[in-house]
Amino acid sequence: MTHKLLLLPGDGIGPEVMAEAEKTLRALKEIGIASFETERDLVGGCAYDAHKVAITEDAMRRAEEADAVLFGAVGGPKWDKVGYDVRPEAGLLRLRKDLGLFANIRPAICYPALADASSLKREVVEGLDIVILRELTGGVYFGEPKEIVTLENGDKRAVDTQVYTTPEIERIARVAFELARKRRNKVTSSDKRNVMKSGVLWTNTVNALHQAEYADVKLEHQLADALGMQLVRWPKQFDVIVTDNLFGDMLSDVAAMLTGSLGMLPSASLGAEDKKSKKRKALYEPVHGSAPDIAGKGLANPIAMIGSLAMCLRYSFGLGEAADALEKAVANVLASGLRTKDIAAPGANAIGTTGMGDAVVTELRRTLK
Ligand code: NAD
Repeated sequence: MTHKLLLLPGDGIGPEVMAEAEKTLRALKEIGIASFETERDLVGGCAYDAHKVAITEDAMRRAEEADAVLFGAVGGPKWDKVGYDVRPEAGLLRLRKDLGLFANIRPAICYPALADASSLKREVVEGLDIVILRELTGGVYFGEPKEIVTLENGDKRAVDTQVYTTPEIERIARVAFELARKRRNKVTSSDKRNVMKSGVLWTNTVNALHQAEYADVKLEHQLADALGMQLVRWPKQFDVIVTDNLFGDMLSDVAAMLTGSLGMLPSASLGAEDKKSKKRKALYEPVHGSAPDIAGKGLANPIAMIGSLAMCLRYSFGLGEAADALEKAVANVLASGLRTKDIAAPGANAIGTTGMGDAVVTELRRTLK
C-alpha cells in the first residue's frame, strides 16, 4: 500500500526541518516498512511571493486528495506588512478550516535525558507523557458576533462569542476517549462551567457520552484555571486532557514548557472519520514557528518535525509499530547525549539540523533491522 503525503515546508526553518522528515521517510521506505508517494507545494510567505496568496487553490486540492499533510512552519518579518487575508498564517487557517480539522492533538513528552532543560524540577517532569486535545474549529475564536462597535457616547465595545453545540463537543470528546483507551485510559475534561453556560453544556455532553459509550474510561473534570495550576504542580497525574479552543490554546503552551524546548513538540490535527473509507483528513506539524532568528543557519532542531511524522505514521497510516520505533530512536539519540543547540547545556557541544536527522535515521535503521 502506498501512502500519499503532501509536503508543505513553508518558510524559515520549515524547509530545513522538513528535509529531515523526508530523509526519515526515505529510510522507512528502504527498510521496507511502507511505501510513500510525496508531492510538495508552497504555503505561507513563499506562496505569497510566488502567487500573491498564502495557499493556492491547486495546493488546497492536493491537500484534500492526500492521505495526510505534513506542514513545516510559516511566517517571518518579510511578510509582516502584507494584507490580512494573504498573511502567511492564512494558509494554515484555510487548511484547518477547509479540511475540517477539529481535533488538535499535542503530546507533551519529557524525555528523561532532557528533564533538566525544563524550567520545572526534574522529579516533576521526568518521564512525563500526556496529551492535550484541543477543539480547533469552534468556540470563541470563531463565534459570531465578533466585532468592535462604537457606542452612542463614543465609547467602543468589543464582543467575542463563545459558542459550542452538542455535536461539536461530542465529536472532540469521542476522540479523547478513543485516545485514552490506547493509552492509560484516563480523560480529564476541562472548561469553566462555574461561570460559563458553554462550560455547563460541555460538562453535561462529555458526561452523557461517557455514560453511553465509554464507561470503561476513567473520567474527571477540572476547571480550566485549576487545571493550569495542576499542570505545573504535578503534570504526571494526567493522561488525556480534553478542552475547548481557547483554554486548549493556553494550556497546551503551558504543557509545552514542561518539556523544555519548542523544537521538541509535534502535533496532529484531525478531521472527522469518513464513514466509508474510515480515513480522517489530517495535518501534522511541529508546534514551533519559522524561527527567523536561526533560519538558514542549519541550527534548527528537527525532532518536533520528525515527531510529527511519527504521529502521521500512527494516526493516518496505521503504522503504530514504526511510529513507536521512530520515537524510540529519538529517545535513544537523546540518551546518547547528542543535542542541537536549543537543548544543549550552555557551552556544550551541539550538532546541527542534518546531524540530528542523520543520528535519528541511523538509530531507526538499527532498531528496525
Ligand atoms: P518560533 O517558534 O518561530 O520561535 C521562538 C523561539 O524558539 C526562537 O528563538 C526560535 O529560534 C526557537 N525555536 C523554534 N523552533 C525551533 C527549533 N525547531 N529548533 C531550535 N529552536 C527553535 O516563534 P516566533 O519567533 O514567535 O515566530 C516566528 C514566526 O513564526 C512568526 O512569523 C510567527 O507568526 C510564525 N509562527 C508560525 C507558526 C506556524 O507556522 N504554525 C507557529 C508559531 C509562529
